[in-house]
Amino acid sequence: MSRTLSNRVAVYTGVFDPIHYGHLDVIRRGSHIFDRLVVGVGINPDKASFFSLEERVELVRLVVKEFPNVEVRPFSGLAVGFVREVGAGVMLRGLRTTSDMEYEFTMSLMNLNLDPEIETVFLMAKEEYSHLSSSLLRQIASFKGALGHFMPPVIKEALEKRVRERQQE
Ligand code: ADP
Repeated sequence: MSRTLSNRVAVYTGVFDPIHYGHLDVIRRGSHIFDRLVVGVGINPDKASFFSLEERVELVRLVVKEFPNVEVRPFSGLAVGFVREVGAGVMLRGLRTTSDMEYEFTMSLMNLNLDPEIETVFLMAKEEYSHLSSSLLRQIASFKGALGHFMPPVIKEALEKRVRERQQE
């Protein structure tokens, strides 16, 4: 079977609720490895997100402007379906801890079964970002903790504003 997907193009999917420096580091490093990197902003079917899909796409777009070969797109449905639609042969993922390993290992095998033409490539999180997760950052924000080291100022402001709105409801 001839290949229809390009290994020079990668897709990095996530919920990005909201995007933080750990994600941005994977995007920056991925943008150096691949000719083109598409960031796919998805939906978590198991829980309501803090920011809407449109808001999350907008926030990611704001902070990837400096990378000329990075594009941001929303998607729904299976990640491999979106990767194929883009024409990418690679799914890029970030790996933080050994606990990420188990989930990511299962997901990459499942995705390979769903579409054998798409390979998953992992980048290890930088040490200084390996403790970052969007859920932990949302919690810190709700207790008015300092967020400046973990995300760009524009994301920090959006998160603090959303927390204030929710606490006034
Ligand atoms: P989160 O767990 O922060 O809510 P997402 O579901 O948006 O993240 O994750 C998208 C991708 O980014 C996954 O491959 C995840 O492992 C990776 N990722 C998340 N946080 C980090 C981090 N701190 N460093 C490197 N990669 C990360």
